Amino acid sequence: MMSRFSRWHLSITPSECVDCRLCETSCPFDYIDKPNTGLDRESREAGVKRLSHLFIMLPILVALGGWIGHRLSIPMSSYNMKVYTMEQILAERQNPDLEQTLYTETFDEMGLSEDALMEDALLIRKRMNMGGWLLGGFMGLVFGVKLIGISTIRSQKDYEVVKPSCFSCARCCGYCPSDDMHKPNFVPGTAAYNEALALADPANNPQPEKKGAQEAKV
Ligand code: SF4
Ligand code: SF4
Repeated sequence: MMSRFSRWHLSITPSECVDCRLCETSCPFDYIDKPNTGLDRESREAGVKRLSHLFIMLPILVALGGWIGHRLSIPMSSYNMKVYTMEQILAERQNPDLEQTLYTETFDEMGLSEDALMEDALLIRKRMNMGGWLLGGFMGLVFGVKLIGISTIRSQKDYEVVKPSCFSCARCCGYCPSDDMHKPNFVPGTAAYNEALALADPANNPQPEKKGAQEAKV
């Protein structure tokens, strides 16, 4: 979880990467993104159209979120003791047959001013209403921005580590033939070395020596 706050991360140097794909298969968590060039993509016009629709929707989502927050602020404000007592007093005034609750009974016994209670309760409701608009609007904005984010496909030409999720455990480094520290793992002539070269450039593929030939050399 702390990985996303980490300053230093594993990274792949595009100029040194030979696209052998060995790191891709070595990461047990699938935190290496592959290049997405050559994939079937929607036309540019369709992408621009969808994005412009989402940008038009953004203020609507903000307004909708704000309105939902405003509507929720009314029942939520009832959790406040003063607002709840005010609601009970008003309900009892409207319907004298209603039995007094513990709150209204205690309020009466304390001999406090109903006007002062009303004033406080209305102020609390007003503040919660404003908070509901702001919080709801913010949630709508976050939702809209996320929606734009997931509908925008960035062109990626190189292998890239998914930085927010990668643990920087360096397991994949041991499989990278371009990593200086791990080059000794890839001794020319070995199956792993040739496999990596074949994947990178099939035309320049040195064929692995046959076992018999190697034995004859020895
Ligand atoms: S450092 Fe570890 S978690 Fe990150 S991409 Fe490599 S193998 Fe995966
Ligand atoms: S193992 Fe190294 S050279 Fe191969 S694709 Fe991954 S980063 Fe590139």
